[in-house]
Amino acid sequence: MDDIIGISKDRLKEAIIELIRRASAVLPEDVVERLKTMRDLEKPESRARRTLDSIFTNIEMAENASRPICQDTGTVTFDIEYPFGMRQSDIEQAAREAVRAATSKNYLRPNVVDSLSGEIKGDNIGAGHPAIYYEQSDGDIFKVMLVLKGGGCENVGAQYSLPRPDMGAGRDLNGIKKVCLDAVETALGRGCAPGVLGIGIGGDRSQSYKLSKHQLHRKINDVNPDPRLAELEEWLFEKGNKLGIGPMGFGGETTLFAVKAGVMDRIPASYFVAVTYMCWAYRRRSMTITNGEVSYD
Ligand code: SF4
Repeated sequence: MDDIIGISKDRLKEAIIELIRRASAVLPEDVVERLKTMRDLEKPESRARRTLDSIFTNIEMAENASRPICQDTGTVTFDIEYPFGMRQSDIEQAAREAVRAATSKNYLRPNVVDSLSGEIKGDNIGAGHPAIYYEQSDGDIFKVMLVLKGGGCENVGAQYSLPRPDMGAGRDLNGIKKVCLDAVETALGRGCAPGVLGIGIGGDRSQSYKLSKHQLHRKINDVNPDPRLAELEEWLFEKGNKLGIGPMGFGGETTLFAVKAGVMDRIPASYFVAVTYMCWAYRRRSMTITNGEVSYD
């Protein structure tokens, strides 16, 4: 590992612990800025405004104390790009040890339980946790993208198989719009609105979910390079915020603070649309290592 990315396995583990601390305690700047913009659109003294003010108090306290923004530190999901020559088993060991250490430092709540018995694992290490996805990069870049996703917002995610005649949703962009709005209406503020929609169109069931989750790595202000998806994102953002659900479902203008969509090809028999919902505690961070230099975003 030393000769490929310029740092040892131990140093990589330490770097990932810091990545987890940043993700858990400090919301990304673009997220905070967008939430502030949305708060300022709410009427003074409204419940929506007061709720968003409380959220900002929470954000500041967590950052100052370097403590988790929310008690549910969620599923720990890594998307890792690594250069040729690195062994996945080495990366996995560093990532798992980092999660264990971050849990003992209280950056993560000991969340993971045995699915059948409910027994608490205590260190957040188990079968399938942390979730780690790998992709080999072309160059010598090593990048770790991390999302901590709470259960409340994960539970209101949805997947639709089009057409859905009961909803008047066909196999086209209008159908996609209808089912995505349905997901927001069904959530009704649960999963801690305001939130971000990640949408995955096409593929098989697992691919569409994966694609929808991958959208969460995008910046709030980026513009989709596909004009059809850019229009879809804008439309859903506007219509979603006209539903009046508001922060935590208390009513108001701010139900969504971003919408991000991706598309992949499919077979003719299937047309899946997956909607991943991410709460206001939008804990995503990334880390890049080049020639032994670690940088965080
Ligand atoms: S949905 Fe998000 S803000 Fe709400 S409890 Fe879960 S992690 Fe926390």
